[in-house]
Amino acid sequence: MNKLDQLLQKYARPAYQAVLSLAPSDGSTEEFSTASKFGGAPYFEEGENWPVCGKCGKQETFICQLDLRSCPAVHLPDYFGLLSFFYCFDCFPWDAPQPGWTVRNYRDAQPRKAMTLPPLPIKEPGFLKKLFGGQHEKVKCCLVKFELFDCYPQLDELDEIGDEDDKKLLADVELNDSYYERIDELTGKSDNFGTLVGGYSQWIQSFPPDLKCKHCNKWMRQLVQIGSHREADIMFGDAGSIYLSICDDHPQDITMMLQCF
Ligand SMILES: [Zn+2]
Ligand SMILES: [Zn+2]
Repeated sequence: MNKLDQLLQKYARPAYQAVLSLAPSDGSTEEFSTASKFGGAPYFEEGENWPVCGKCGKQETFICQLDLRSCPAVHLPDYFGLLSFFYCFDCFPWDAPQPGWTVRNYRDAQPRKAMTLPPLPIKEPGFLKKLFGGQHEKVKCCLVKFELFDCYPQLDELDEIGDEDDKKLLADVELNDSYYERIDELTGKSDNFGTLVGGYSQWIQSFPPDLKCKHCNKWMRQLVQIGSHREADIMFGDAGSIYLSICDDHPQDITMMLQCF
């Protein structure tokens, strides 16, 4: 095996690609309450409220829910079950400290515990809102199927997290040049800005060198990458992606970043 393949094999991490297909209904029937999906009715349990943006006070848009229990190969902490994600398109937060995004995690989500909450009525709709309706009304419900594949870090991430010897290896221009080509040969996924569970974040701009746990200072790893999906009418800026990262030892502290073209 050549050096590049050895390197790729060493750093490969399993990941699941979310494959979307338009749902047969609006996704709010009981059958789909715990399903992995974009749009439709989000899963809630008793006593919960619809997430509201901490900045503008409006309801956040339900983007997706992903059942991480159906993704065993990525070895996430047991803490995770059905993960749902909401976002405020009016405030458009770029990273974790800004309000306007919500992650909820239901470790033991079950159809019999599911509750449907209608989105709050929009208060004082502005002209554009009247014209186009709330963003949440636009998201089309798509069901998600997961496909397992080998995911590789981008070069700038490998340059931060890799072993010293491997970093030296990467200084080899030829090897460096053929890096993404080889990933494409292996998986066809070197430019993968869709929705992923686990693996490595495929950064649209660049690897954020401060992606470390604030409790223990270890590198965080990808929990979920949520891409823009035309089929569901979800677009983060210019075809952006949302990156949710975790530290395995402190999984309750999920961090969020958004990057776009
Ligand atoms: Zn907001
Ligand atoms: Zn930690």
